Amino acid sequence: MNTNNNLDNIDNIDNINENMGKLVVLSGPAGSGKGTVLKELFNLAEYKYSVSATTRTPRDGETEGVDYYFLQKEDFLRKVSSGDMLEYVEYSGNYYGTLRDPVERMLRKGYNVILEIEVIGALNIKEKFPGAVMIFLTPPNYSELSERLINRGTETDEIIARRLEIAKKEVVCVEKYDYLVINENNMQKRAAFNIHCIVETEKHKNIQPKSMSREIEIMSKTAEENKITLKSAEDFLNIYFS
Ligand code: 5GP
Repeated sequence: MNTNNNLDNIDNIDNINENMGKLVVLSGPAGSGKGTVLKELFNLAEYKYSVSATTRTPRDGETEGVDYYFLQKEDFLRKVSSGDMLEYVEYSGNYYGTLRDPVERMLRKGYNVILEIEVIGALNIKEKFPGAVMIFLTPPNYSELSERLINRGTETDEIIARRLEIAKKEVVCVEKYDYLVINENNMQKRAAFNIHCIVETEKHKNIQPKSMSREIEIMSKTAEENKITLKSAEDFLNIYFS
């Protein structure tokens, strides 16, 4: 059977099989706190994290197969040409990509799967799987983002400068996402709860309001507050760069 077709049909399967998991794409500039928020999210409910492949060198404390699969460039490109990647991108001088097989398996088992990926890869996923939930996470403004990235102390000044430049371009893509979650200082639990509400709401989207449980009804209201419209994206960008 052609794996490619299976995946391309995931969205259709999603509509007829309520046991299918949700594909959740989470993007946000470096320093937006994705890692910390995801830890909080995984305390709230069972989610599966898609471990990406990358050619960048591991940072202190990162573990093979947990944070990333760290590959040599040739091995990475071999996987791309054999169709083992759902998407991939060159970002800040390294390759990053989502491995097809584990994602497919986890979705079929009914798990909600989180892809923590940058904007270009995210938009490619949305094109292939229109049913994927697209969430953008960011600190409230650009100066807060720069401060966090500098204080994190994991990158050299040159890399920080490069990542801040990328961040500017990424944030402008916010309107292409379905939801915007602001990660306020020390409010990671709140951001995680918002993401959980969004996923649960999207999973129960086809249920008639009158047969919705009280819990889902409350979650839908929270999700609605994070929904992106052209107007809210415009307002957000004005504040972000002011
Ligand atoms: P970092 O080097 O800080 O771990 O990641 C750099 C950027 O690459 C982050 O924005 C992260 O979300 C993104 N990224 C990680 N894995 C993937 C992937 O598989 N595909 C894409 N497109 N981006 C990824």
